[in-house]
Amino acid sequence: MSAYDLIVIGAGPGGYVAAIRAAQLGMKVACVEGRGALGGTCLNVGCIPSKALLTSSAKYAELSHLSAHGIAIEGASLDLGALMARKDKIVGDLTKGIGFLFKKNGVDHIEGWASIPAPGQVQVGEDSYTAKNILMATGSEPATLPGVEIDEVDVLSSTGALALEAVPEHLVVIGAGVIGLELGQVWSRLGSKVTVVEYLDRILPGIDGEIAKLSQRALSKRGLKFQLGRALKTIEKGANGLTLTLDRVGKDKVEQIEAEKVLIAIGRRPVTRGLGLEDLGVSINARGFIEVDERYSTSVPGIFAIGDCVPGPMLAHKAEEDGIACVEMLAGEHGHVDYNTVPGVVYTDPEVASVGQTEEALKEAGAEYISGKFVFMANSRARSTGETDGAVKVLATPEGKILGAHICGAHGGDLIAELVLAMTKGATIEEVARTCHAHPAMGEAVKEACLDALGRAIHA
Ligand code: FAD
Repeated sequence: MSAYDLIVIGAGPGGYVAAIRAAQLGMKVACVEGRGALGGTCLNVGCIPSKALLTSSAKYAELSHLSAHGIAIEGASLDLGALMARKDKIVGDLTKGIGFLFKKNGVDHIEGWASIPAPGQVQVGEDSYTAKNILMATGSEPATLPGVEIDEVDVLSSTGALALEAVPEHLVVIGAGVIGLELGQVWSRLGSKVTVVEYLDRILPGIDGEIAKLSQRALSKRGLKFQLGRALKTIEKGANGLTLTLDRVGKDKVEQIEAEKVLIAIGRRPVTRGLGLEDLGVSINARGFIEVDERYSTSVPGIFAIGDCVPGPMLAHKAEEDGIACVEMLAGEHGHVDYNTVPGVVYTDPEVASVGQTEEALKEAGAEYISGKFVFMANSRARSTGETDGAVKVLATPEGKILGAHICGAHGGDLIAELVLAMTKGATIEEVARTCHAHPAMGEAVKEACLDALGRAIHA
């Protein structure tokens, strides 16, 4: 029986980063992974393959816009197999890279599915291990709707939609959240008709409403169709494909649409099964997430949890920050994560990026705030690249403390970093507005949005 200071269960971005940091801090560490490859959801079937497909499909879609630049392309064609092989190679290289990082940092990689028979004990198949502390980083998996079975052939989760062997004629995406929009745009660019069905009367729930509207307008312009205020009731398989029955929310009306494939992208649920948590008495909340305190400790001493399996934003970088803070506190250091400044990015074209509070949340809380906005149409770099859709929006206290920032626009995921840093360091909109920004650059829109909030925009 091998004895460790820390055993991490799950080698996603939360678990593998925590394992490496714990080893750097001098702990004897093992990381158990059942999937057969390191990197978790993020590297294998999440962030990385989706971004690889977004990039390839963007290049393909761009071909039809090159005539505006005076460039004519003839005979361009799509080799979907080669496109998928590129994605698989990126995933393979990165997951192998984590194995290398484990060796370099002295982290033992244990292959198999783990359970926790008792505090301080981890069981993997026939093998038992002991550890002073156990960290669960078991992540999440796609959720589905009652009565809807995901077969990954016709009815897909994100995992199936990342590996299709042919471009579907009509893909219906259920859920207008991050994953549904990203993968919907991939297949739309590759030639599918894509219809996004959403229960709410808006897309991107949780994102600032004004920015979500800009995103919907831009995605519609690029070919995505939206059917909002509709709930999926049933999917029936017939000889000619799938028939979906939709309820119009709040109206006594039912509709049907046909599809070749359906992607269920209604969210993700935490993975906690098979670990033995009920017998251990680990508290789980009503939505199935493991409850933890500010030190990431579960209700059972010596057992900790981080990442997608605990409450909070289900994002890779949040899982990483959780993991580092957790093991630094275990080592007697001061781990800390500011959850008010965790950014979120939707990698569609245009991108949507946000941090902090939305205008709706501020209104609901009755908070006093000022806001500033700058549209990319008025930004000279955006005009020269042709990426003029969208805007930057900042929300601040009347004294200028930044409460939230929201971007719909090209490179929004990179532009948001300036405002995340400003919020983290307590910089005001006045300080961002007085920072010299290069010209011509998309980042000037961030400066101008801050100037607008101060009533001093130059180019608006
Ligand atoms: P996971 O990455 O889910 O890893 C958990 C690991 O634990 C898994 O490998 C699992 O096999 C293993 N495991 C579970 N139980 C056991 C057990 N009993 N024994 C052994 N191993 C076990 N986030 C972003 O920030 N940016 C993005 O662009 C982004 N894009 C996404 C796109 C898609 C299509 C999807 C599905 C997700 C995306 N996400 C993105 C979300 C991101 O992937 C997750 O937030 C992140 O992976 C969570 O990390 P984690 O370490 O908590 O869990």
